[in-house]
Formats: sequence, structure tokens, C-alpha cells
Amino acid sequence: MSATHLTVIGGGPGGYAAAFLAASHGLKVTLIDRMATPGGVCLHRGCIPSKALLHVAALLGETREAEKMGLLFAEPRVNLDRMRDWKQGVVDKLTGGLATQCQRRGVEFIQAEARFVTSARLELTAPDGSVSQRDCEHVILASGSRPASIPALSLESPKVWDSTAALELESVPRRLLVIGGGYIGLELGSVYAALGSKVTVVEMTDGLLPGADRDLVRVLSKRIKESMHELRFKTRVAGLKETRAGIEALLQAEDGTEEKLVFDRVLVSVGRKPNSQGLGLEHTGVTVNARGFVEVDTQLRTADARIFAIGDLVGDPMLAHKAAHEARVAVEVICGGKARFEPLAIPAVVFTDPELAWVGLTEDQAASTGQQVTVARFPWGASGRALTLERTDGLSKLIIDPTSERVLGVGLVGVNAGEMIAEATLAIEMGATVRDIAETIHAHPTLSETTMEAAEVFFGHSAHYYTPRKS
Ligand code: FAD
Repeated sequence: MSATHLTVIGGGPGGYAAAFLAASHGLKVTLIDRMATPGGVCLHRGCIPSKALLHVAALLGETREAEKMGLLFAEPRVNLDRMRDWKQGVVDKLTGGLATQCQRRGVEFIQAEARFVTSARLELTAPDGSVSQRDCEHVILASGSRPASIPALSLESPKVWDSTAALELESVPRRLLVIGGGYIGLELGSVYAALGSKVTVVEMTDGLLPGADRDLVRVLSKRIKESMHELRFKTRVAGLKETRAGIEALLQAEDGTEEKLVFDRVLVSVGRKPNSQGLGLEHTGVTVNARGFVEVDTQLRTADARIFAIGDLVGDPMLAHKAAHEARVAVEVICGGKARFEPLAIPAVVFTDPELAWVGLTEDQAASTGQQVTVARFPWGASGRALTLERTDGLSKLIIDPTSERVLGVGLVGVNAGEMIAEATLAIEMGATVRDIAETIHAHPTLSETTMEAAEVFFGHSAHYYTPRKS
């Protein structure tokens, strides 16, 4: 095995996880990325910088709400340069750490743009423009994704941001329009709202976070409405125009009414698209579907026997932890194992305030396929811990198979929901029943008790929330 050479294209959470695991299995590994350090979108301009800024937003929110508890802070002064430096410091620490890990693990890291010449040969263009070629035995493609746009919104202006530009923290605009009510728009919109922008979110569908259950979203929407200037649903932005007053957006409601509003900055967050172009895939046997995702089987093999693909490049959910798990499967298969990517549950977390997280089957999915489920809900108003935090705006719910009593899905909204979803993910992966959760002792007083109490609600036994006893 030690002679096998693995080339990984893309140094994001999929690519670096694959490279490190392959090296630990004894493979000779080369990791290629056009960036100077590994980390990909997640570390450089995604998960990590956004969560650093969301932490700042949460701190600001807490100081403002502490007044109720008898703590009076002066209005905070925001030093944008220091905030930007701190955020960048976090990113640099992590990406620098990955570069060191490459050295320690014997992974060769090359900064270059990679392109297939044949499925066994890559052309590498270094930052100085020099071009070289390399043979490769096995390849894992992990080239990730980039922000999507649509023609009506593709105005070339420094005032029109994508998520990468919004994370630069160039300024705090007085009026910010966020186009798209998905998780990236909401997270970044929350940061700017906390820093003082008047944020308007425009979403084409009838609510925030399409894909998440509406009862969870309602809890989040209630608070978001308080922190943001306006939320507009069933509305599309039909055009953007640069004027002297700012960026003029043409808003079209579902009933046909139109309105022009002016903003200082516009954040376009209408989804992401895979980086499958420019890789020379036409010189390989790799196939790509109509949306541009590389097609793979459950072992992450593409249609070209040498080439595997993982992460955002192969489809939804476009999440770092999905990419890292796929990396593990692809490497195991290359090493001769029989692994498959068949998770029962991939958690999704929206790091807003409150956080919203879900895993496994949602209630909406069950309804749309006619699957019979029982839903047990525990509102956080009945949680002692939530009360001590002055954060009763939360809900924990379990989606249960009424026959086997297995937990099929869990939805949480509330502070720290993102941390709490791990227990739910494990429960689903382990095939836990609702009784397993109800009878597992949870520490008191913690927010994690709300998951246990939701299970007790199923039996009509919850100590803190009365529901009629189950016959
Ligand atoms: P990427 O991270 O996209 O990495 C791909 C790498 O490939 C890049 O570094 C790119 O430079 C390189 N590359 C591409 N083509 C070539 C080429 N031809 N030659 C050389 N190099 C190339 N996910 C979460 O799970 N949790 C979050 O909280 C979260 N927050 C996010 C917030 C924002 C603002 C954004 C934009 C994304 C967020 N994501 C989050 C999504 C997450 O970043 C992605 O799912 C994840 O980065 C995908 O990993 P990947 O390895 O597939 O590819």
C-alpha cells in the first residue's frame, strides 16, 4: 500500500480529511489547492469566519439583554479593524495548523490550480504561472463549491456582496439587503444586524430556511423579526441597479406588485454551485449531472475508475461534516475496504440566535411522503435551565415511528441547539427508541434535558410539561 499514490484536489474539510486519513493508512499523498494553505471554503471564507463573527453578535446581544438581570452595560463601541483582525487570526491559526499537520503527516501540499490532461495526468499551474504535469494513480476530487448568482442579481459593484465579501467586514452598511432566507443569508444578516445595520431579508418562498420544519422556524422568526428591520416573503428581487443613493433593488411580490428600495449594500445569498468546471473533467470518464454535481456511487466512485469525488462537489447537503465523512469512506475504499456512504442522519445547524438544528426525518418530509409518525414536543418555557438563561424561546421535538417507537428525526430550536443535536444524531444512528432517550439520565439543569423531556411527553410522563397520559 505504501507505494500507492493518492492525489487530492481541493484542501477543504473534505480534501484535507481525506489526505490526512490516507497518510495515516500509509499512502503517499499529495494535496493540491489554489490557496496558499489548506482549509477550503470552510476555514477561509465559510464556517469558521462566520461563526467567529456570530460569536461577536451573540456577545453584543447578551450585553443588551443583561439589563433585565440587573446588569447595565454602556452601549458597546465597535472597532471594526480589531474585529476583522481577530476573525482573521482565528482563521490563520486553523489554516496554519493544517499546513503544519501536512508536514507532520508527510502530506505534500502544493499550491496550484489543478486540471486533468487525462484521468492519469494532471496539469498544475502555480501562482507564478509556471506549469508542470504530474501522474496520478488515485485521485479524490474535493474542489467544493462557490456562491451562485442569477442574471438579475449579477450587478458588478463592490456594493453587491457574496458571502465571501460579507465576511470581509469592509464596513457596517446602514441599510443592508439580504437576498435569500437560507442559512448563510440569515447568519450573515444576523451579524450585520447586531453590528447596527438595518437588515431587510427578501425570500422567494413563504418563509425562512426552506427545508426546516415550520414550528421550529416560527420560534426563530419571532426573534429575528425583532433584530432585523424587515422580512419579506414570497418576494423576488427582479433587478439591481447602482444609483447615486445606493443600490436600487426592484422587489416583485407574488401578487405582481413591484417596489423599488435603495440599500447601501446588498448580500446575494441564493445558494452555492459546485466547482466542476475548469477541472478538465472532459478528459476523464467523470460524469456530471444537470446541476453540475459530479456523479458518484455510495462508495464515492465517479464513472472513472481512478477518480473519487466528495464534498460539496457531489451534492447536498453542502456541509463540512458531510464532506469529511465522505472523505473517510473514499479513503477506506481506496485502501481496499468495503465502506459506503450510507448515514442515517446528517445534522444541519443554523447558527443564528436562537440556533436551529435538525437531524434525520423532518415532520414536513414525513407529511409529504404520507409516512405515519408521532411527534412529541417539549417547549423550553418549561425548562428550568432555559429560564435561568432568560432564553425560553426554544422547542425540542422528536419524530417517532409509532410502531417501533424508534426515533426517526429530531428538531431543536433554542440557544445551543447546535451542540445538542449531537445526542440526537447518535440516537438515530444507533437506532434508539424514544424510551431509550426518556430513560437516559440527563444532567440537571441543562438544556439537553429538553430532548429527554420531549421523549417523556411521548409517554405522557414529562415532569415539567403536562400532556394527557398515553393510553
Ligand atoms: P471547499 O471547502 O469548498 O474546498 C474546496 C477547495 O478546492 C477550495 O479551497 C478551492 O480553492 C479548491 N479548488 C477548487 N478547484 C480547484 C482546482 N482546480 N485546483 C486547485 N484547487 C481547487 N458548513 C457547515 O457544515 N457548517 C457551517 O457552519 C457552515 N457555514 C458556512 C458559512 C458560509 C458563509 C459558507 C459559504 C459555507 C458554510 N458551510 C458550512 C459550508 C462548508 O463551507 C462547505 O460545505 C465545505 O467547505 C465543503 O467542503 P469541501 O471540502 O467539499 O470543499
